[in-house]
Amino acid sequence: MARFDLAAMAKRVRPGTRRKAIVLRDIDPPGTLATNLYRSSYLPVVLAWAAAAERIIAAYTSTLSELTTDAPADVRAEIDGAAEQINRLVLLLTPEVRDWALRTEQLFRGKWRGAVLSATGVDLETMIGAGDVRASLETSIEWNVALVKDVSDVTRQKISNAVFDGLRNRTPAREVASTIRNSVGMSRKRATRIASDQLNKLTSALAEERRREAGIDTWIWRHSRKAHPRLNHQARDGNEYTDETAPQDLPGRLPYCGCRSQAVVTFD
Ligand SMILES: [Zn+2]
Repeated sequence: MARFDLAAMAKRVRPGTRRKAIVLRDIDPPGTLATNLYRSSYLPVVLAWAAAAERIIAAYTSTLSELTTDAPADVRAEIDGAAEQINRLVLLLTPEVRDWALRTEQLFRGKWRGAVLSATGVDLETMIGAGDVRASLETSIEWNVALVKDVSDVTRQKISNAVFDGLRNRTPAREVASTIRNSVGMSRKRATRIASDQLNKLTSALAEERRREAGIDTWIWRHSRKAHPRLNHQARDGNEYTDETAPQDLPGRLPYCGCRSQAVVTFD
């Protein structure tokens, strides 16, 4: 998969060097990128459900007080109507997800180029582009679109459960209202975690591809320093691996893993 030999290029740029290896700067993606993804692609769905929740709560309240036989149909119609409207919104958000992925790739590529340039004196500007990592970008886009839809579907399911369970047990409206608002709050928190995880997923994939493309086989495990780490990941911090010696669960692959790989250019 190597497209060029960075070690050989580095030797040509600085022929006098006697170093056996150069560790490239660690690239820690800024958290603002996760916030941008959350705000542009997940939050609109959460906010749409928050607004719909109030209409559904109102319909539930009048259903309980009216006690007519067709009243449950009104609250069901309110939920179905909201779901239909929000499904259309999800489709409109695909370009937002795509913009985010492209901007993240561009930013990562700039940081990679900077790290390589400062460590080796080789400028990759004309040698690398977004096209090299197209498959990773498409995967990230499709994965996020599916997750936005999942956040919406799970919210809908929780609201439906609260409503129909409430109707069956004649649960007071304020109790059902609080359950519904809680569900929306949980979806908001889940979406925040997903956006942060998706940033790690995309940037760790990009790091791996950029490293392989440059013919670099050696890298150092960098632990995320996040709270509640996997202890075996924390223990790997600073360890050097090659593609042959690497553990199965590469940095950033497992759910909510924020670990990174730091490339090492080796000379033989
Ligand atoms: Zn980890």
